[in-house]
Amino acid sequence: MTTKILKPARLDYHDDNFRQQLAHLLAWESVSDDKVHGIVKDIITAVRKRGDGALLDYSRRFDRVSASSMKELTVSEQQLQNALDAIPGEQREALETAAARIRSYHKRQVLESWTYKERHGTKLGQKVQPMDRVGLYVPGGQATYPSSVLMNAIPAHVAGVEEIIMVVPTPDGVINDMVLAAAALAGVHKVFTIGGAQAIAALAYGTETVPRVDKIVGPGNIYVATAKREVFGQVGIDMIAGPSEIMVVCDGLTDPDWIAMDLFSQAEHDEDAQAILVSDDLEFLHEVDDCMNHLVQDLERREIIKASINKRGALIHVPNMKVACDVVNHIAPEHLELSVANPEVLLPDIRHAGAIFMGRHTAEALGDYCAGPNHVLPTSGTARFSSPLGVYDFQKRSSLIHFSDKGASEMGKVASVLARGESLTAHARSAEFRIRK
Ligand code: NAD
Repeated sequence: MTTKILKPARLDYHDDNFRQQLAHLLAWESVSDDKVHGIVKDIITAVRKRGDGALLDYSRRFDRVSASSMKELTVSEQQLQNALDAIPGEQREALETAAARIRSYHKRQVLESWTYKERHGTKLGQKVQPMDRVGLYVPGGQATYPSSVLMNAIPAHVAGVEEIIMVVPTPDGVINDMVLAAAALAGVHKVFTIGGAQAIAALAYGTETVPRVDKIVGPGNIYVATAKREVFGQVGIDMIAGPSEIMVVCDGLTDPDWIAMDLFSQAEHDEDAQAILVSDDLEFLHEVDDCMNHLVQDLERREIIKASINKRGALIHVPNMKVACDVVNHIAPEHLELSVANPEVLLPDIRHAGAIFMGRHTAEALGDYCAGPNHVLPTSGTARFSSPLGVYDFQKRSSLIHFSDKGASEMGKVASVLARGESLTAHARSAEFRIRK
């Protein structure tokens, strides 16, 4: 018998200290590293002061790219098209299929303007408009993420954003064709091959070459996340994402190999990623544990999986599916699989989850790439109050108010009383001028 290398925590709902154990399992503090914070502040200051010059210096220092002008770090539309033409047919077809599905899903999210009329011809409403210009950070330090390009750029494009600017670092000057091909398909307008905190600063404040944007979206490492936190307010940001999470609720009748691999699909992202299985079948939890230990051996990222499962993974036994749903709502996971015969029955009890994958065949991995819904989801329990990235994140709303003289006269009396109650005399008089004598 082989020794078990994976040792997920075992929790049982019937244990007296179940809640404490759960709290311990979920505890995760985003690294707030003073040293990184200092480095990022210096980078932002340098980009604000020296613009393109600072970008060229940092690209040389962090990505080993020696360019003498920003022109060399700018990708032309022709280069995007060339990349699309250069990738193997199989990759192009997969990207095109994924892009079409993501576009079709997101088109349904578009918010429309609306108005309504009241008596005296008063008109009220909401005008919805796309943002003018957004920045998309695509990570590129250790790995490349064409799926991130599609998931972040397509909703912006569907919203009607006039200019989508993408930044992506190219360590040693190596550019990834699949990332550029995805940008071509997703409707990205401009690409700069810069990364890290300096790219975020350039998007937030603008340089001679990089235009200032209204909002920055996209994941990245600690330097990128810290820089996004730092420039928030100057620009909008999507979110500060924590490590990836998956929670599977299973009735014990799905192939345990499938469940084991679904748990690994998030565990392989990162040592801090969290994979949790909840079931009312204790025997099944043991089976999945065995399958995990068997299947992990062949996986390329087994060391990351091992660290993630042993640090933050768990198998939780519950008395029934109703309690399983309570545990889900308590955790509010980023990804939730309902691996049961009839997920529709559980759905009314699920209140908090970023994305809900329904039924035994719906592997979370499909959602990462090509199901259609966005893979940028709220992590670390934030699904209690926030939602997946969508078209609405690239639209903004203005209120519309139009009074006729009769309407202004009627509401002027109300405003006057309230304004005088707040001792704001100019407000009161402004409203009173419009009251019909
Ligand atoms: P990255 O593009 O985020 O970072 C690379 C940049 O970091 C470099 O260009 C450099 O400018 C900067 N940098 C590196 N070392 C530095 C230093 N010592 N000082 C200052 N700056 C420095 O790429 P990455 O490093 O591969 O990280 C990508 C991250 O994004 C990973 O943590 C990955 O898990 C995450 N990610 C998340 C999602 C998601 O959907 N949540 C998707 C893809 C990737």
